[in-house]
Amino acid sequence: MTRPRMKPWIEGIHAYVPGKSTGTDGRALVKLSANENPLGCSDAALAALATDHAPAAYPDPDAAALRAALGQQHAIDPARIVCGTGSDELLNLAAQGFAGPGDEVLFSRFSFAVYDIAARRCGATPVEAPDSDYATDVDALLAAVTERTRVVFLANPNNPTGTYLPREEVARLHAGLPGDVLLVVDQAYAEYLEPGEDDGGLDLAARHDNVLVTRTFSKIYGLAGERIGWATGAPHLVDVLNRIRGPFNVTASGQRAAHAALADHAFLARSREANRIERGRFAEAIEALGNYGLRAVPSRANFVLVLFEGAVSAETALAAIGEAGYAVRHLPGQGLPHGLRITIGTAKQMDEIAAVLRALCGEAG
Ligand code: PMP
Repeated sequence: MTRPRMKPWIEGIHAYVPGKSTGTDGRALVKLSANENPLGCSDAALAALATDHAPAAYPDPDAAALRAALGQQHAIDPARIVCGTGSDELLNLAAQGFAGPGDEVLFSRFSFAVYDIAARRCGATPVEAPDSDYATDVDALLAAVTERTRVVFLANPNNPTGTYLPREEVARLHAGLPGDVLLVVDQAYAEYLEPGEDDGGLDLAARHDNVLVTRTFSKIYGLAGERIGWATGAPHLVDVLNRIRGPFNVTASGQRAAHAALADHAFLARSREANRIERGRFAEAIEALGNYGLRAVPSRANFVLVLFEGAVSAETALAAIGEAGYAVRHLPGQGLPHGLRITIGTAKQMDEIAAVLRALCGEAG
């Protein structure tokens, strides 16, 4: 039998398996597995989605109004901004535009799963640098750079660990890279940092020819279903992404919703504050179970990676949390069989999950 043969570099890629949203008995679970905003999205975005609906017309291929609004908000020339079908698309395009067979794409261990896929999709070799207790280790990344390295991905804050690399460390990473290596600073969770705090990624992207920053409307803006992300960097970098992206890659409704969401600063502030409070309370609840081997990796994002290093295993906890009606993320395929990544939900949801874990420890203790 003859049939089309996949390229050899595609063979190592496995189709993405999303977190479960139904229990073993088929009942719907509350989804705390995809880092979505428990408050939903801004009312202004909902109103924009409800108006002007004209699905027969193609969207603006350049997302000009949205890019202008982003440019104004971040003091960036809109010509240095490109929008994508979620930031996922832009991360993939960054790898595809600058790496190929024989090249290496570098990132830290325990970082976002798409980096590995993005590298393999274009035939490049994914290279993982060691972490330092679940955080990105700049020295380890720099030590892993070879003459084949073409792209370095840094998620900051990082998924699935939630750890954050301060501005000086990001600058040190950039300064240590050769000028022909592209540094992609993935800021999917940047809006969860405190106001005024930032990792300097946008400044680097404004001043250097080899830095791209990606952002998304999927997380704090609560628009994951609309699939909108954006990237900014030097014109020659943006030009490469524009050449290889789909011509109508951001839907009309997505462009409208994102534009409206940008102006709703109150919604962002509310979401950030609720996340900060619940994340703190949840981390304390986990710390109180330290004697049973539970540990919360310090998070600056809208989720917490809980490690199970004692008698209670992550599998047991996953099952018990599922029994209580919640889906959270177990990532054995990413080297974390002993961890659960739990999205920060409402106070009630976090209390219920903490109670499940306390009960398990009681049984174990
Ligand atoms: N980067 C990171 C670090 C993420 O966690 C995610 C979502 N899980 C993304 C990028 C992609 O999000 P989206 O494609 O929805 O913008």
